[in-house]
Amino acid sequence: MSKVTEIFGCNVFNDAVMRERLPKETYKALTETTKNGHHLKADVANVVANAMKDWAIEKGATHFTHWFQPMTGITAEKHDAFISPAKDGKVIMEFSGKELIQGEPDASSFPSGGLRATFEARGYTAWDPTSYAFIKDGVLCIPTAFCSYGGEALDKKTPLLRSMEAISKQAVRVLRLFGNDTVKAVRTTVGPEQEYFLIDKEMYDKRCDLVYTGRTLFGAKPPKGQELEDHYFGIIKQRVSSYMKELNEELWKLGIYAKTEHNEVAPAQHELAPIFATTNIATDHNQIMMEMMQKVAKRHGMVCLLHEKPFAGVNGSGKHNNWSISTDTGVNLLEPGDTPHDNAQFLLFLCAVIKAVDEYQDLLRVSVASAGNDHRLGANEAPPAIISIFLGSELTEILQAIETDTPYGAKEKEILKIGVHTLPRFARDTTDRNRTSPFAFTGNKFEFRSLGSSDSIACANIMLNTSVAEELKQFADELEAADDFTTALHDLIKRVIVEHNRIVFNGNGYDEAWVKEAEKRGLMNLVSTPDALAHYMDEKNVKLFTEHKVLSETEMRSRKEILLEKYCKTLNIEALTMVEMTRKDILPALSAYVKDLSETANAKKAFVADMDCTYEAETASKISTLSTLVLKKVDALEEAIGKAKEVSELSELAFYMKGTVFAAMNDLRAVVDELETITSAKYWPYPSYGEILYSVK
Ligand code: ADP
Ligand code: MG
Repeated sequence: MSKVTEIFGCNVFNDAVMRERLPKETYKALTETTKNGHHLKADVANVVANAMKDWAIEKGATHFTHWFQPMTGITAEKHDAFISPAKDGKVIMEFSGKELIQGEPDASSFPSGGLRATFEARGYTAWDPTSYAFIKDGVLCIPTAFCSYGGEALDKKTPLLRSMEAISKQAVRVLRLFGNDTVKAVRTTVGPEQEYFLIDKEMYDKRCDLVYTGRTLFGAKPPKGQELEDHYFGIIKQRVSSYMKELNEELWKLGIYAKTEHNEVAPAQHELAPIFATTNIATDHNQIMMEMMQKVAKRHGMVCLLHEKPFAGVNGSGKHNNWSISTDTGVNLLEPGDTPHDNAQFLLFLCAVIKAVDEYQDLLRVSVASAGNDHRLGANEAPPAIISIFLGSELTEILQAIETDTPYGAKEKEILKIGVHTLPRFARDTTDRNRTSPFAFTGNKFEFRSLGSSDSIACANIMLNTSVAEELKQFADELEAADDFTTALHDLIKRVIVEHNRIVFNGNGYDEAWVKEAEKRGLMNLVSTPDALAHYMDEKNVKLFTEHKVLSETEMRSRKEILLEKYCKTLNIEALTMVEMTRKDILPALSAYVKDLSETANAKKAFVADMDCTYEAETASKISTLSTLVLKKVDALEEAIGKAKEVSELSELAFYMKGTVFAAMNDLRAVVDELETITSAKYWPYPSYGEILYSVK
């Protein structure tokens, strides 16, 4: 391998390349526009496009694409060759400024949640110049946002960029109040830790449930699962380590700071975390990372599973969204300071997050809602569906001292007056690691842990940025109007703590007692996707998004529809797959096994008249009885699927899918899994959990 420093970013049209390849004037104009968010002038765009094309062709690229993130949750690209006909029947390679700035993919096949009916079918993509262009598989990819011609967002990126602007605007107002006149913008930053499974491709191909749905729909627990916890941080197997090496190289070439990798709790489960980046870039990078994980796995004869719950009874996969706010001058606003002034500012931003999480619990839950993630949340392996904040004991005590005006601090024992006193130093490298909290303060950032492994991180960050923007707005409104800033600040912080400390919970989130306690505190417990989505359009939420111009009411409605539709379709595909597996593979296999057992018994009797056939007889009889039960259950499931067609209202359908279809799926699975444990491996039509989970040697 060549040196990391040499390959890093070699496929990215980054700042260094631009500086080198663009005329000084163009470079200046481009960076100015990027910084201020202005439109790029046509002449500048033409020069940039040309330089980009030359660079891409030198790297072997033949095509370009506007790379975007429609509501499908994955990325989309339509490749166009650079070629243009020349007079002599030959071609020239061309790429214009117009092609760089704007594209027009046919929007009609992407989910629009009703927007398509009201607006034009066509959509357009617009370059996000803050995210660098890159080369992937011989294609120059231009990161873009995707909108309808009416300007409605059809993707995940547009509202994300809007939410970043919203929080920036309000945070700057707050910083001005603290006498900061230099900061022009703030950026939210994200470091997403990504979990995944790696299994052998041969095993994967034998399981149509994995192929169709990404998860196993049947499968008895193996004798050895994750009980010994011997996989976590364990020695990485050779095949996996050469995979990780190649994956890292691919990601580094694309300028992605892949940093830490380790084995996770479940067998065959791993994690990769990059160094954090500005939110829109982190979002792009996470999408590329997921794509590369799957691609590189194939090259190694393996399959990378990104589903939230590929195996029942074994930990599923999530994604930790480490989130913070920094100024354009590089100051982390969630870093506790050393002076009374810095402390006060830190506490105000901290309070904004606390208030936001309390008031918009439902939106945070919505942002991680999917059929796949429903298997994890609240299942004693991932943070519960109840949203709460972990602050750690020291910070909590400080907030309590402020709330109750009681003295705090080992030495001075002073009553903390915000803006006047220095906060007592508390351990910032929180060794206190509560893994059960959905939203944990980890010293200088918050870690939102409820995301599913296959989720785009856009949605979670749209919710976070916008809700915190709203709180900062309220704070700025109040403080700007105050006569005495310090007193007003103290009162405000105290009030927020009093009113919102119910959201702070430092205990064990997996504990059954927490569910009761949370209910007493009036916190929401939105156990499933349909439950969560029922709150999406609540008045306060519509007000939030429209006021900060992140999503219009129409855009929100369309998003809710898309999410509900996806949920229902996912369950429908899973149910149909189960029916097919049962009827085509499982029941016939059971019959064949019974036949084998009966023939063996007959042969034995023919050989020696009174030879004992208890094993054959009992097993055959048990399997026959259970097969009848399977038949009943699969009929019931099929009937449930059929009746779904009678439910026309989408949210009602989602509840029906969860309450009736999903329940019927679980009923069927229970019997089939029992049968797997008593059926000869030779007859069982699929590789077992044990074979799959330990398939990568
Ligand atoms: P863990 O112990 O959970 O692995 P780390 O300190 O290694 O925690 O960080 C996890 C992630 O948090 C990494 O992706 C890291 O880059 C990211 N991170 C660190 N600081 C920030 C920050 N200021 N903003 C956003 N993410 C951050
Ligand atoms: Mg973490």
